[in-house]
Amino acid sequence: MHRSEVTVDLGAVRRNARTLLRALEGSQLWAVVKANAYGHGAVDVAGAVVDEGAGALCVATVTEGLELRAEFSLIRILVMGPTASSREIAEAREAKLELAVWDEEIPEGVRVHLKLDTGMGRWGLAELQKPGAEVVGLMTHLATAESDPDYAAKQIELFRTVTEQYSDLMRHAANSAAALRLPSSRFDAARCGIALYGLSPFGEDPAADGLEPALSWRSYLAQVKQLQPGESTGYGRRFVAEEPTWIGIVPVGYADGFRRDLTGTEVRVSGEPRGVVGTISMDAFAVELEREEPVGAPVTILGQGVLAEEHARVAGTINYELVCGIRADPRRARRVVVDA
Ligand SMILES: *Cc1c(COP(=O)(O)O)cnc(C)c1O
Repeated sequence: MHRSEVTVDLGAVRRNARTLLRALEGSQLWAVVKANAYGHGAVDVAGAVVDEGAGALCVATVTEGLELRAEFSLIRILVMGPTASSREIAEAREAKLELAVWDEEIPEGVRVHLKLDTGMGRWGLAELQKPGAEVVGLMTHLATAESDPDYAAKQIELFRTVTEQYSDLMRHAANSAAALRLPSSRFDAARCGIALYGLSPFGEDPAADGLEPALSWRSYLAQVKQLQPGESTGYGRRFVAEEPTWIGIVPVGYADGFRRDLTGTEVRVSGEPRGVVGTISMDAFAVELEREEPVGAPVTILGQGVLAEEHARVAGTINYELVCGIRADPRRARRVVVDA
């Protein structure tokens, strides 16, 4: 038996893509599959979303783009991050990747999207110059689409004003949060990542926006034991039993992406919520049981009602970081792709 199994359901990705396409009311869906599709598998996810009618794939680096170009010869691929060298630009040209650009100098022979900084305070031009012939798109990125719609609206209006006279170019500003809840941000296309994976950009239950988590993660109780009062589990003795207490040991740890700050979160053991206790170690964590359970009892770490948003809240982070950190390293875990 594998220590754990990470399952990616491309059917859920497809349904999320359709939900986004409906919300977008005619604007294109550009699927953000950077960072190996937020840990979900870039090539698998890209295949599903292209099928569903995504107009482009967006990645952070030229190398990520080249990996996808090898599989998908026609789809538009946009590299949103900076290009590091003239060699990278040549590779992008060769592979017909499109580049987000915010330098004075526009690379030649590559289709580019000029990026404006309208308030993110990160990549982007402070002012838009007249776009040259290589420019096919104008873009900006929102800093607060999930948390401060007023600030986001200001960014959107600034972008609209500055780009109005170039409305023949593809204009795109929205991420998932904006695509779902800020209709004025949609322009010609929306660059959606997190929502495709069925995760909430708002840190809420994804079902509130009609989204369905695509990734589930299961393991099992590899050992079950009863601690006597005063006995503890794990490094540093952070959990000490006050009364006779059954605990189960799950063979998954921070090396697999079950972060050290997840102590106190809930997983399910045989379908019932159980708390994670003690220090999470590299290869294992402990759960407190209500009664003796058989070795081999199924443990759901994510999926079937166990939300990444809940784990993220306990860990003081966001679902994005949590799923990017899940490593289905074949030497430690099994990765399964289904299309249900
Ligand atoms: C990552 C990224 C997105 C996608 O954001 P989500 O919140 O995951 O939808 C969109 N645009 C840019 C520039 C990004 O870097």
